[in-house]
Amino acid sequence: MSSYDLIVIGTGPGGYVCAIKAAQLGLKTAVVEKRATLGGTCLNIGCIPSKALLHASEVFDHAGHQFAELGVDLETPKLNLPNMMKHKEAVIKSNVDGVAFLMKKNKIDTYTGTGSIAAAGKVTVTADDGSKQDLEAKNIVIATGSDVAGIPGVDVDIDEKVIVSSTGALELEKVPGKMVVVGGGVIGLELGSVWSRLGADVTVVEYLDTVLGGMDKDVSKQFKKIMEKQGVKFELGAKVTDVKKADSGGMVTFEPVKGGDAKSIGADIVLIATGRKPYTDNLGLKEAGVAMDDRGRVEIDDHFQTSVKGIYAIGDVVRGAMLAHKAEDEGVAVAEILSGQAGHVNYDVIPGVVYTQPEVASVGKTEEELKAAGIAYRAGKFPFSANGRARAMLAPDGFVKVLADKATDRVLGVHIIGLGAGEMIHEAAVLMEFGGSSEDLGRTCHAHPTMSEAVKEAAMATFAKPIHM
Ligand SMILES: Cc1cc2nc3c(=O)[nH]c(=O)nc-3n(C[C@H](O)[C@H](O)[C@H](O)COP(=O)(O)OP(=O)(O)OC[C@H]3O[C@@H](n4cnc5c(N)ncnc54)[C@H](O)[C@@H]3O)c2cc1C
Repeated sequence: MSSYDLIVIGTGPGGYVCAIKAAQLGLKTAVVEKRATLGGTCLNIGCIPSKALLHASEVFDHAGHQFAELGVDLETPKLNLPNMMKHKEAVIKSNVDGVAFLMKKNKIDTYTGTGSIAAAGKVTVTADDGSKQDLEAKNIVIATGSDVAGIPGVDVDIDEKVIVSSTGALELEKVPGKMVVVGGGVIGLELGSVWSRLGADVTVVEYLDTVLGGMDKDVSKQFKKIMEKQGVKFELGAKVTDVKKADSGGMVTFEPVKGGDAKSIGADIVLIATGRKPYTDNLGLKEAGVAMDDRGRVEIDDHFQTSVKGIYAIGDVVRGAMLAHKAEDEGVAVAEILSGQAGHVNYDVIPGVVYTQPEVASVGKTEEELKAAGIAYRAGKFPFSANGRARAMLAPDGFVKVLADKATDRVLGVHIIGLGAGEMIHEAAVLMEFGGSSEDLGRTCHAHPTMSEAVKEAAMATFAKPIHM
């Protein structure tokens, strides 16, 4: 029987990063993956394919709407959806092949099949043909990720053709005339904006009275306005009570959360984007004695260990934000802990990005969270409409908002909506990791002309006054 220091079950960003770090630190490591390719949800059906389509649809949209203003005349651009999908497939392939290469490079054994835990130190891999292989390990890391969640209390038959999850929405064969997106969170708005840019009439139906729930309210309000300007419609405060297939397409029925008459909208495609749930099917956790919480997540302590010694868990299958980089950082931390080092994740500084156009990015506390916690703060804001580079790039929409502790000036949160927000947020993340102040940020020389100057100006607006406003 093959024996390892560490076996990781699942090769998403949590699992494969954990395995690489463990191998780098000298642990004899294996991974088990039930999918034919490595990389998990993120590389196969999540972050990477969605960003390939977001970028391609953005270029298409710019060609149709912005090029003329920039002095580039061309015939009305025509969509070649099969080629756009080919681009997405090529991007997926190069990424999953890259992970396979990294497994070999780091001498990590890969087992294809469903992993289950017989007991601490014992993993069985069941291949598609039913054959089984038993493995041994000093430690096991569960990194089995998450799966599409349905709508609570509503029986929805996701056929991935008419009623689709994010997976089906990444593979539509033609642009729907009308699309209803159930759920105004990150995934729904990213994929809704892809198909809206390609020509679909998109309506987002959301239970809350705001989109991007959990984001800073200033940002989500502005974001909704921008999306509306781009043609996306919203039904907020709407509780979906039924989703079914109709003669052609699907039908979504909802009623106001506050009470009132129900309404139905027909669509060619209905995208269910109401969140994801931890995935632990066929893992044998109950038999192995691994405790779960009431939301189906694997329970872990502060060092990622489950209720069973020698069995750890990371990523979407445990508490915290369902984000690839959070899973990666947990993977590194657990590998370090298993190698006798002090692995740690700072959950106060995990950036979140929405890859729409413009992007939304945030790190740390929102204004609402600070108010609820009774923390006195100062807020500084700077709009991209007053930034020279943004004007040059026809990207005046959005702003940067910095929140700093009133007494110490330590930065507690930064929220950005604007072109390239997902890149700009990292200077705030580094600043916050080092416990920096808004004055530290505002007195740091920023290259001109850059969008990032708006970050500096927002920081200046927090401890003093901005220059360009
Ligand atoms: C459409 C979409 C877009 C997204 N975009 C972003 C984004 O832009 N940025 C971001 O940070 N996050 C994004 N996410 C979320 C991100 O994909 C997840 O947070 C991330 O993949 C979680 O990583 P993980 O390693 O925990 O699990 P996963 O990536 O889900 O990987 C788990 C792996 O385990 C395997 N597995 C499960 N059970 C077993 C078993 N018993 N035996 C063997 N293998 C098993 C699965 O096949 C899978 O490959 C997106 C998600 C979706 C759906």
